[in-house]
Amino acid sequence: MYTETLYKKALKQEFLTIDEGFFLYENAPTSDLMFIGNELRKQNQPKEKENKVGWIIDRNVNITNVCIAQCEFCNFYRRPGAPDIYTTSLEEYNEKIKVLKEKGGNQLLMQGGLHPKLGLKYYKKLFSDLKKNHPDIKLHALGPAEIHHIARISKTSYKDVLVQLTEAGLDSLPGAGAEILIDRVRKTVSRGKCTAKQWLDVMREAHKLNIVTSATMMFGHIETNRERIEHFVKLREVQSEKPENSEGFTTFIPWPFQDEGTELNEKSGVKNQTSGDEYVRTIALARIMMPNIKNMQASWLTVGKKIGQLSLHAGANDFGSIMIEENVVSVAGADHSFNAEQIQEAIKEAGFEPAFRNQAYEYL
Ligand code: SF4
Repeated sequence: MYTETLYKKALKQEFLTIDEGFFLYENAPTSDLMFIGNELRKQNQPKEKENKVGWIIDRNVNITNVCIAQCEFCNFYRRPGAPDIYTTSLEEYNEKIKVLKEKGGNQLLMQGGLHPKLGLKYYKKLFSDLKKNHPDIKLHALGPAEIHHIARISKTSYKDVLVQLTEAGLDSLPGAGAEILIDRVRKTVSRGKCTAKQWLDVMREAHKLNIVTSATMMFGHIETNRERIEHFVKLREVQSEKPENSEGFTTFIPWPFQDEGTELNEKSGVKNQTSGDEYVRTIALARIMMPNIKNMQASWLTVGKKIGQLSLHAGANDFGSIMIEENVVSVAGADHSFNAEQIQEAIKEAGFEPAFRNQAYEYL
């Protein structure tokens, strides 16, 4: 009876409380959650686009592998002074952009470590050089943890960093580094990074400046199920605060912790135990708890084709990117890959129509 009441509330896109969301996560059958997630997906899209599933071609480029945060789930970073540290040069960017263009993509996803010496001046020059050489390339770059770090070492505000980087060429801000937006969890898995409030405050500023952002969740490590629901509610609150003319979070992307060779696994024995069923339930619950975020992306890179396809029937309406050169989750065990034909085939096989899109989620 209680679940029926919650289903009705969810279908009307009313905000469920943390207790209500947690109750559904623990008790509702997966088929019910999938049905509601799927209905909400349809409600969030115009009728003529109801059957479309978005995808994009972009290229991941890691700005630097030097990082002082030392997150316990990350195999990618190197401490300052390590023998194999690097910072990508302009020539290397040019080469990578050439390959991206040959494959039909026009977006660079630029992320990297929290380098102790790379501040606002460095990123401004980098973005303006890239835009000068490639005015048609979109820069989907950094993330709240990096913006927080740049503001800290450059002794300025989040707003100032975002304004100056946007002027230099930043197009949109990925929601990386969210992990679980609960400080109890962050203190263990990513204690060198910004706090949950700082992550959310960077996004608040970005939304005030009408910068397109996304939201993420890396789950299945040391958080509780209730903390996952709390994570949704925090994102939903920030989305509710955005100015009316702002896009806010255009999408939400959850992925399970990839454990292979990580400190979290080797030192503390934490394993990724997220089942396919749990991933699908998470997608559906994300739709239910965050009806004010329009798009939900299935992370096929980490969960594989089959679970990705099932997620499209549980509320996801996007399959993300074919992601040329992904270096963070793939070094921790995510080994799935698609080319442009395969991603479209996978979407069709699941019963949907593939729609090539840009970062603002406009179908092209
Ligand atoms: S996840 Fe990012 S911030 Fe954390 S250690 Fe890796 S590179 Fe650094």
